[in-house]
Amino acid sequence: MDVSTNETTTNPFKAETKQLLNILIHSLYTDKDIFLRELISNASDAISRLNFEILTNKEVLDADVAGEIRIKINKDLKTITIQDTGIGMNSAELAENLGTIAHSGAKAFIEAASNHKEGDLANIIGQFGVGFYSAFMVAEKIEVLSRSYRLDDKAALWISDGGETYQIMPGTKENRGTEITLYLKEDATEYLENYRLRQIIKRHSDYIPYPIFFEVEEEQINRQTAIWRQQPNQVKEEEYKEFYKQFTFDFTDPIHHLHLSIDAPIQLYALLFIPSSPEPNVFSDRKDFGLKLYARKVLIQEFTKELLPDYLRFIQGVVDSEDIPLNVSREAFQSTKTILQIKKILTSKILDLLTNIAKNKNDQYLIFWKEFGIFIKEGLATTQENEEQLLSLLRVKTIYKKEILQTLDEYIETFLPEQNKIYYYISENNSSVDQSPHLEIFKKRNIDVILFTDPIDPFMLMRVNKYKDFDLVNVTAQDIDLPPDTEEESKSETDQKQPENLPELLTFFKTILGDRIKAVNTTQKLVESPARLVDSEGSPSPEMQKAYRYLQKEFEVPQKILEINPQHPIMLKLSGLQGINPLREIIIEQLYENCLLAEGIQPDTNTMIKRINRLIETALD
Ligand code: ADP
Repeated sequence: MDVSTNETTTNPFKAETKQLLNILIHSLYTDKDIFLRELISNASDAISRLNFEILTNKEVLDADVAGEIRIKINKDLKTITIQDTGIGMNSAELAENLGTIAHSGAKAFIEAASNHKEGDLANIIGQFGVGFYSAFMVAEKIEVLSRSYRLDDKAALWISDGGETYQIMPGTKENRGTEITLYLKEDATEYLENYRLRQIIKRHSDYIPYPIFFEVEEEQINRQTAIWRQQPNQVKEEEYKEFYKQFTFDFTDPIHHLHLSIDAPIQLYALLFIPSSPEPNVFSDRKDFGLKLYARKVLIQEFTKELLPDYLRFIQGVVDSEDIPLNVSREAFQSTKTILQIKKILTSKILDLLTNIAKNKNDQYLIFWKEFGIFIKEGLATTQENEEQLLSLLRVKTIYKKEILQTLDEYIETFLPEQNKIYYYISENNSSVDQSPHLEIFKKRNIDVILFTDPIDPFMLMRVNKYKDFDLVNVTAQDIDLPPDTEEESKSETDQKQPENLPELLTFFKTILGDRIKAVNTTQKLVESPARLVDSEGSPSPEMQKAYRYLQKEFEVPQKILEINPQHPIMLKLSGLQGINPLREIIIEQLYENCLLAEGIQPDTNTMIKRINRLIETALD
């Protein structure tokens, strides 16, 4: 595309842009007001970018001109002009930025537009950042006159009627910045009224951090003082919500906010929000996670990930500090002392907020937990910091209270007299819980067991193995320690039937199953099941095995130990089978495969079906 500065060029819009323009211009939208928000927000960004440039570059046109936005109305020409002293654009940038759509909000809008009826769309358009082009909803022609901050660049003019093409030509402008003139459509002349523009700015752009002036009156109409720089007790609940919505384009209220204004150990303002859901809505303007970082009123970075641990990435908001060093490199940035300090403060304040909600407003905490519980678990899986507090924020279900979310402390209250361990069971789905042989002894003894079913749980349990004084123990462990059972011990061993030739039976199991198992033992931990599989010492922990399975990494299931229940009728009868009985082998094979199934491991179905048919046949004999 030829955009040399000395001549006029006519260029076609890119296909996507045409599509967007088409929707914006030819459909009847009720919420046209948003065009002003979009243009003011662009102007504000342009000033912020200029301020950022000035930090390191003194070769800037009009270096001492302050950042401000001016709005002029000309009732005779029916025009509105939005003028800023921001970074400006040269002719190439005008073509690049205003000829194509880079903007994700606009893309989301095009997508949503193709799925909505016109009427619906009118109601939701306000939630999109549709950007510059939204001005074509109210303008039949737009002129963008701009001059870049670079000393060598010349002013340039971009003109379009929102049709197929736009033109670029040399322009006349002495000062840095951009001036956008909208020639209003006949049905949009309401925007020539002073009060209408004020109303819109108050509603959508009140917290833009630069002054907005009306040319006629020299009167500032936005509040400008950033909301986060005000004292928390001066800000009303409604104002927080309003700000949040302007900030995120999320149209649902946040579920909590945290407003900090502190002076020691460092000076810091922060306004943080917990959204109602971790998923940014499709209209969201936030392309990435991370907090917006200001230092001395200059926007340093839009998505600053270094200010919170990753697991708190669902938090939205703004951080502003006088103490942030302004000209450190990106790489050095995250390890500067101030950033680390801020991270520590913010993390502990957020965790305190959550702890507080959990203590005093359980209902609200459960709402939070439902949406963000996995982030707390991720925190436990990934860092040791604040482990005790994160564990107190954890909510669990147990085999006796499958529907109720409990704290670990509540679970501990159900301990048997001499119980000193927290027992848990990891299952991939809730239904395997009732079948698992590992839980039989717990059910028999009335010991409650925590159920973990989230994919993140095994990862968390690989790191966490203690809460307060209590070890966390997986019920599938071979040598699991149970609280003493007085009743059971008083029963003499002879009360319980055992196969007479038990050692022989065990050897037989091992011979038939061979390398598929590491060893065969007896166990007293089974009640209804004839056998189970447990991990042998030295093999990867069950958590690790589950984690591998979730990650779908190829890994071989390690050789397990087969434990049999010597009192089980099957074992008693099996040992009674005389001589060489082919059924014995089939039964042992099937018992083993049943154990695999109980562990969630898929056996070979073909041979299994044959085997079962064979057993049915014999049963019918
Ligand atoms: P977005 O602002 O979301 O990127 P827009 O379509 O509104 O999308 O704007 C496209 C681009 O045009 C911006 O990213 C910016 O580079 C440039 N731009 C728009 N308005 C201005 C302005 N007032 N000053 C400087 N650049 C601007």
